[in-house]
Amino acid sequence: MKLNENYSNLKESYLFSTIAKKVNEFSHNNPDKKIIRLGIGDVTLPLCKAVIDALQKAVAEMGVQTTFRGYGPEQGYDFLKNAIKDYYKERDVELDPNEIFISDGAKSDLGNILDLFDTDNTVLVPDPVYPVYVDTNIMDGRNIIYINANEANDFLPEPDENIKADIIYICSPNNPTGAVYTKEGLKKWVDYALKNNAVIIYDAAYESFITDANLPHSIYEIEGGKDCAIEFCSFSKIAGFTGTRCGYTVVPFNLGKLNKMWLRRQTTKFNGVPYIVQRGAAAVFTKEGRKEIEENLEYYRENAKIISDTLDECGIKYYGGKFSPYIWLKCPNNMTSWEFFDYLLTNIQVVGTPGEGFGRNGEGYFRLTSFGSKENTIEAMKRFKNLLNK
Ligand code: PLP
Repeated sequence: MKLNENYSNLKESYLFSTIAKKVNEFSHNNPDKKIIRLGIGDVTLPLCKAVIDALQKAVAEMGVQTTFRGYGPEQGYDFLKNAIKDYYKERDVELDPNEIFISDGAKSDLGNILDLFDTDNTVLVPDPVYPVYVDTNIMDGRNIIYINANEANDFLPEPDENIKADIIYICSPNNPTGAVYTKEGLKKWVDYALKNNAVIIYDAAYESFITDANLPHSIYEIEGGKDCAIEFCSFSKIAGFTGTRCGYTVVPFNLGKLNKMWLRRQTTKFNGVPYIVQRGAAAVFTKEGRKEIEENLEYYRENAKIISDTLDECGIKYYGGKFSPYIWLKCPNNMTSWEFFDYLLTNIQVVGTPGEGFGRNGEGYFRLTSFGSKENTIEAMKRFKNLLNK
């Protein structure tokens, strides 16, 4: 037996454990201080009524002989795939239901998709980045090239003709920076991918935060997108499914063998998402579901606005916060990410995420999220203003 030695190349994921350790220590020593957490990437609002009704109905069906379901299609039920197809059609993107694969969330599929690619491929990843893209490739031993996302490019790097890559990761709206590509920006990546015979791994987990009609929700809104990109999406942030688990992956027929290979991979290694959960996910696309999730999204958008308004008042530079639940701010007074973390925790008991944890270019930046409660966000920003607007 030989171990996959690539695992020894993984860096210890210390970010959230260090945050927890520091917060625990502080609250142990200061039990009377109320800590407000604006660092989490998890939603806090419950599932909406339309989803709960659909889940309950599906649970009841499972208890009746005639409507009970056993194994379902590994790639998802037609009712959900068709609902997704119709959702894309609203933006003039035509998908065949057999190009859509239902998953238990974007994270697993982002990792699993790598089964289809040789370990010899070179991977291009922006820095800072959602750490899953990096770690899943390290596990396979692929060569990773980093492309700088920084102030100079507004955290939206463009392709560099001198860099040759086979697998390109794009996340828009971005975690952690909140930056969103325009159609023109994405077109450059599509052109680059087509020219270099590369595949784009497009992570659209936060697409529903976009409200500007000119910004793309999907890479397939870009000409040529269906010829070079696999798109990953999730009900986690859109509809509060972080604990319920459902997402989907689109592998266009135009990508040659990849659609067939992914079908083969999924039917071999995956047995599908529970019927009950898929019914809940399909309810997201009903008229009531759309209205209700929009109310939840609006709640998070308002929190983001409370945070960005405060940063404006304090004269602190930031990115995101508009079409994203993430606000990526530049630490004031040249503090490092961790210095700023300690400064906020010690002085106002507000917890965020040090940008350095997302990559080298994250140093000197700090991520706040809009997923907290409105009361806590208002209170945190009141404290923030008192501390920083002197
Ligand atoms: N992609 C990005 C960019 C994320 O930030 C997250 C979760 O935080 C995911 C994917 C994972 O989503 P899911 O809950 O569907 O696995």
